[in-house]
Amino acid sequence: MVSFEEARHLVEQHAAGVYPGEVETVDLLAGLGRVLAEGTLADRDFPPFARATRDGYAVRAADLAEVPARLDVVGEVKAGAWPEPGVSSVGPGQAMAIMTGAPLPTGADAVVMVEYTSAIDEATEKSVGKLVEVRRSVSRGENFVPRGAEARAGQLLLDRGCPLDHASIAIAASVGKSRVQVFRKPRVAVLSTGDEVVEIDATPGPAQIRNSNSYSLAAQVQNAGGEAVRLAIAPDERRRLRALIEEGLGCDLLLLTGGVSMGKYDLVEQVLGELKAEFYFTGAEIQPGRPVVFGSCGADTPGRADGGCAANTRTGVSAPHNKYFFGLPGNPVSTMVTFELFARPMIEALAGMTPQRLIFLRARLKSEIRTKTGLKRFLPAVLSGEFENAEVELARWQGSGDIAALARANCYVVVPPDRERIEAGEWVSLLMRSG
Ligand code: AMP
Ligand code: MG
Repeated sequence: MVSFEEARHLVEQHAAGVYPGEVETVDLLAGLGRVLAEGTLADRDFPPFARATRDGYAVRAADLAEVPARLDVVGEVKAGAWPEPGVSSVGPGQAMAIMTGAPLPTGADAVVMVEYTSAIDEATEKSVGKLVEVRRSVSRGENFVPRGAEARAGQLLLDRGCPLDHASIAIAASVGKSRVQVFRKPRVAVLSTGDEVVEIDATPGPAQIRNSNSYSLAAQVQNAGGEAVRLAIAPDERRRLRALIEEGLGCDLLLLTGGVSMGKYDLVEQVLGELKAEFYFTGAEIQPGRPVVFGSCGADTPGRADGGCAANTRTGVSAPHNKYFFGLPGNPVSTMVTFELFARPMIEALAGMTPQRLIFLRARLKSEIRTKTGLKRFLPAVLSGEFENAEVELARWQGSGDIAALARANCYVVVPPDRERIEAGEWVSLLMRSG
């Protein structure tokens, strides 16, 4: 049994040593949720010209040392137009009408917002050739972004290992990458165990339950950037369980649920032991999810579907390769929580992603929590309200099997192992429920 922090650290250490799969090229939008396999460079300066950030007048700041001041309007630059050199330059006492996104004409060193100006001759629609009165001073450099201030041509904008989300997709789009190189998604086997578990389209007998874990896990795997391979349900029987575990070890990662507790028919660890598995932890001091198991089966695993060889894309050599597995507890809430805490970082690493941190928010507790010491708890909770009114309250639940409570919750309150009681009004850490 290890602490939460030790368990997480062990997973991170092992995740740091895994290799992503091959590289494939996909359309930019199909890359959403995938991991970049190539660096993305700025193809030119960003912005490529000194870009006005306000509608107004391009001016020389020195001309507005005293206001109000009157300037000659000598032209207009709109977004998309290039100010003609010579003709379109701003001299002392002059201004040029300019729109957001337009290039700053030479001679100008600031933009004054249109709100602080009045065109003197409003008889004609065009301001060219007319006077403008400016009521506010500006500093040099105000209201435009200098050329190259965001990035220089050739600069690395997105590194290999970067997950593609809407922001990184915007960057790829802005440098003209309509196709991107991404890593193949890791294939993650999902194996539910238990004599009482039946397929979801079956009518369960009086003591049977439907296999919801395979589906929640498949959804979480997909959300973490993997491709879920749902295997048949393993009964609590050694031979069939072993055959299915061997099948699962043919994938890049194996997730088992159920059968890791202390019960007489909890056979997962035994069967993995027969397969010469190495265990890095068997149990973590957390609730829910205490029986969680993490380990690997070596390249010489008897009967392993891929013969223990996976192509190492960095060296191009087929090398023996450890297959990692997680034995997640069968209680559905425990399964979901332990996936997020431990399995997700391994999937992300297999997908080629640079390591991501767990993000904890802080919120005020609405009503007190009483619990026992000794375990770090991740308790389903509802965060409500906004801004300074945000507050969090535990979801009423019947324990780790209560998926209805989890579905009502949107986060977990994290209770440190040394706390028996947390008062209403205290600030607590939250882990948001993703996807
Ligand atoms: P176990 O970890 O095998 O002791 O199972 C703990 C609890 O989780 C039991 O109540 C099981 O019936 C339930 N459970 C196990 N596997 C699943 C599954 N695949 N889907 C839904 N519930 C499950
Ligand atoms: Mg079981």
